[in-house]
Amino acid sequence: MNNRRQKIRQTTLLISFLLFPVTIFYFSPFLIIWGASLGIITGSFITFTSLFILSLFLGRAFCGWACPTGGVQEYCFRVNDGKTRDGRYNWIKYFIFVPWITIIALMAISAGGFTRVDPLFLTKYGVSISEPFMYIIYYGILFSTILVAMLAGKRANCHYFCFMAPFMVIGTKIKNFFRWPSLHLKANKELCTQCKLCKNCPMSLNVKEKVLKEDMHDFECILCGKCVDSCPKGAIEYSFGVPKRGN
Ligand code: SF4
Ligand code: SF4
Repeated sequence: MNNRRQKIRQTTLLISFLLFPVTIFYFSPFLIIWGASLGIITGSFITFTSLFILSLFLGRAFCGWACPTGGVQEYCFRVNDGKTRDGRYNWIKYFIFVPWITIIALMAISAGGFTRVDPLFLTKYGVSISEPFMYIIYYGILFSTILVAMLAGKRANCHYFCFMAPFMVIGTKIKNFFRWPSLHLKANKELCTQCKLCKNCPMSLNVKEKVLKEDMHDFECILCGKCVDSCPKGAIEYSFGVPKRGN
């Protein structure tokens, strides 16, 4: 088991979480609308565009390694590590995403298009939470994230409510369609002894089943590598290149 890589991942998630009071507006679904209504490309616009571009090569690795609320949800596993994967409610995030994107587009059109770039929009010298009362926003988001994860199970926010995930799912679909080199998982079923030590997937995916099919592709996979690092037989590995199938 490669604990070192998972420790590094936990550290990057922790750093991202600690920086959240600074970065929260750069992930804001509201500021992008506000900016669009004024014809301004805001920090969150740049973040979401960057995540989309990144996903064309790294899939949803951002979710697994750098999301500010990803690590918080993984801490919640201690309270509720129930599986969220049956895909039944994953549609909710698209139900949120489509009207949200539509509103941004309509706002931008009514403003006569984007005419200005202001990455620091509504921040103070680049810091999002610059006044004590603004911690209401911060703790509100944190509290709702923790509540959903505790009530609905492992990384439930990522499955059901994350408005950023669709950007990366679309990016993953595009990279899979064009089959250019990208980060993905590769499995070798010959090495699998069906010990199920890979069952600790933070996204509740049935990893063993995927290994036995030698098809690790899943739009909900956040490429965290926990399965890679849990498998004592090395049946799963990271790979950067053209995926064999839909991986
Ligand atoms: S941990 Fe490895 S060997 Fe065990 S079931 Fe998973 S893929 Fe197979
Ligand atoms: S399948 Fe593996 S890499 Fe993907 S989310 Fe699950 S544990 Fe992480």
